[in-house]
Formats: sequence, C-alpha cells, structure tokens
Amino acid sequence: MRILRVGSRGSDVMKIQAVLTKIGYSPGIIDGIFGNQTQQAIIQFQKNSGLNADGVIEANTYRALEKFRLGYSTYTIRSGDSVYSISRRYYTTINKILAANPGISIYNLRIGQQIIVPYGIDVVDTNINYTYEIMEGDISGLKTRYPFIQTGIAGKSVLGKNLYYIKLGNGPNEVFYNASHHGLEWITSVLLMKFIENFSKAYVHGKNLMEYNVRDIWNESTIYILPMVNPDGVDLVLDGLQRDNPYYESLIRWNNGSTDFSRVWQANIRGVDLNHNYDASWNLSKQAEANYGITGPGPTRYSGTAPESEPESKAVADFTRNHIFRLVLAYHSQGEVIYWTYLNIIPPDSPKIVQLFSDVSGYTPSRTTGIVSYAGYKDWFIESYRRPGFTIEVGRGRNPLPISQFNEIYDDNIELLLLAALV
Ligand SMILES: [Zn+2]
Repeated sequence: MRILRVGSRGSDVMKIQAVLTKIGYSPGIIDGIFGNQTQQAIIQFQKNSGLNADGVIEANTYRALEKFRLGYSTYTIRSGDSVYSISRRYYTTINKILAANPGISIYNLRIGQQIIVPYGIDVVDTNINYTYEIMEGDISGLKTRYPFIQTGIAGKSVLGKNLYYIKLGNGPNEVFYNASHHGLEWITSVLLMKFIENFSKAYVHGKNLMEYNVRDIWNESTIYILPMVNPDGVDLVLDGLQRDNPYYESLIRWNNGSTDFSRVWQANIRGVDLNHNYDASWNLSKQAEANYGITGPGPTRYSGTAPESEPESKAVADFTRNHIFRLVLAYHSQGEVIYWTYLNIIPPDSPKIVQLFSDVSGYTPSRTTGIVSYAGYKDWFIESYRRPGFTIEVGRGRNPLPISQFNEIYDDNIELLLLAALV
C-alpha cells in the first residue's frame, strides 16, 4: 500500500472514506480526495485506536482500518468469555459469530481458541470505485464471514490478476453469472458482489430475499459467479495508466495518443474487446470491424487475432465447458435491455424466461443486430449449447455509469438474479 495523506487522491482513498463512514466517522464526501475533513476523521480514528494521531495513513493505521475493511477481527478466547459477551463487545450478533465459526459450540469455548468475530457492518460498499483490489478484499472478507461460500480461480488476466469465481449453493441445477467483460462497465461487478453478500446473509439467517426462500435455492441450484472478467480493463478505467504497466507505450498509441482511459476503455489490457473474442461468427465480427474503422487493438470492438486469443475469454469459455450450465447471464451496461437470442437460434424456454426477466426487472427484451450480434459470450453459449443465455444491459446513460445509479440497478435486478437460479 502507498502512504496516504492530505492531497492524496484515488480509489484507495475512496475505500477508506467509505469504511470510516460505515464505522461512524465523518470524512466528508466519499470522493477519493484526501482533504481536511478526511484528515480530521483519521486523527479521531487514530486517537480512538491508540495510534499516533498524525492524520497520515501508513502501515499501522492501515492495518487498524483493514479489519473494518474486511469486516471482521480475529479474537483469542480468554477465561470468562462467552459468545454473548464477545458479541456485545464487538457490536455484533451471536448469529453472525456462529455463522463465521461453524466448529464452535456456544456452551464450550476453549481458552486460547481463535475465533472470527464479524462486525455488524456490511463488507461490500456500493458507493465507491470498485477496483480489482477492493473486490479481492471483499471476496476474502465474505469468505471468512460466511465460510460456506466456496471460491476459486478460473484463470488469470493478461497482467496476472486472478479471475475469481464464487460458488453459492449445492444443488444440481447449475447456473453462471458473470460481469465486467468491459472495463467501463465495472458497476456490474458491484451488482454481483452485493448479490453474493445479501444472498449469503439471508442464507445464514434462514431469511427470504424478496419472496424467495434462499435455502431452497441453495439446495436446488448452484450459482457460479465470476464478478470481474476484465480486471485489467476495470483498473485502467478507474486508476488510470500506471508507469509500470508493460503495455504503457502501446496503450497510449491504441488510445489514439491519449492517457485518459476513464471514459473510453472497454477492452482488456492488450486492446482486445473480450466480448468480441468468442467463437461465434467470429469471422463476421472481424469483417464488421472494418466498417467501424477498427484495424487493430483499441478501446473497443477489436476482436483479437483469433477466437479466445485472450486469457480472460479463454478462462470464461473453459469454465463454461467444465460445467453443465442450465443458463448463463452476462452483465453489461447500459440500456435496460435484455438480449436473449443469437442469429436465429432461440433456445427452448428462452422466450418464456426473457419475459419473466423483463417482468421483474422492467428491462426490455431485444434481439441484437449488426456488429454487436457476433462473437459475444452469450452468442457463443447459445450456439454451443442451445440453452438460455442472456446479455443484460443495466442502467441508463453514458458509460461509465455513475455509482449513484447503483441502488436502482440493484433493485431492478435482484429478483432476476434469484429467478435465474430457478427457471
Ligand atoms: Zn458491455
């Protein structure tokens, strides 16, 4: 981590502002700018935590904040402790502690035993820039709080970042949701991560989400979620081009000489549009590029040198080949539209399912035309398996959508996400 102080700017500052706000401090607007109000909040936090109150975030302060960022502490049982007394001390609940420690008995804590104490706060923030690093922290925090969640790595990005997946449920009906094939569309990663958190929370407490019994879904279905297909592209959009990027010079060239990637970059770090890199009429996608003036790597719509030439699309395709998915959802932004066909292929049940999805989300079913109708993940899935595959375009406006649209997007999609595991 880098040292943060007044004047620092970035997604890391934003995350810390969000964490401070959640635990009761007042760092000001969550804007990623370390100003005087953020400094005052840090000083207060340092005082309350017994740290040197200098308003600078270096290793010690960062470590103290990290617990709240991940949403839990590790606690060693002492004589006289009970689950109840620990829950009181940490402002959390007995249920949360028991969920995070499936091995412990409420009546028989062993002195010296280490347990996880989850805080009352949520892990996934929905008001900040959602970089790969923040997602990685959230996955680790959620997995610790909810040990029944399984996670894994489907592959690596060009720059070596993990393509994490999360597995919810144990049922025979397998479905697959993914997000952020496109760099600008990172709000879709937040959507799936918040869904994972709320689904896990409902499962642990035996509660419904909407009207849906989460434990029934858990037993009937297995939901695989790959929340960030293109982490290199997302980070380029959110954090800008770093000097140590091995593609530094090329990226500027591919970006028409500009060092500003924040409003244009959809591709992976090699300038390949991952959702034009699947083996479904890939040659037609290639031919269509010329009409858009695309001759090589760039911000959008370049299909690469061959289908699955990129490690990210190859990993997603391999992951799909290694399962038997009844249905897949590929999340994109924007338009409030659901694409559900490929060329003239209409999988059995797809007309019925897209109507249901449309009813619960308010989004419009649509059939793709032109360059966007080839070589996408949903296209490849439908052609290969003749089963329901959907591209869902969330939100409205110009990409990247502001994170302030998050709550509306979540409300539009929560029931769809539950239904997709049941239809
Ligand atoms: Zn997209």
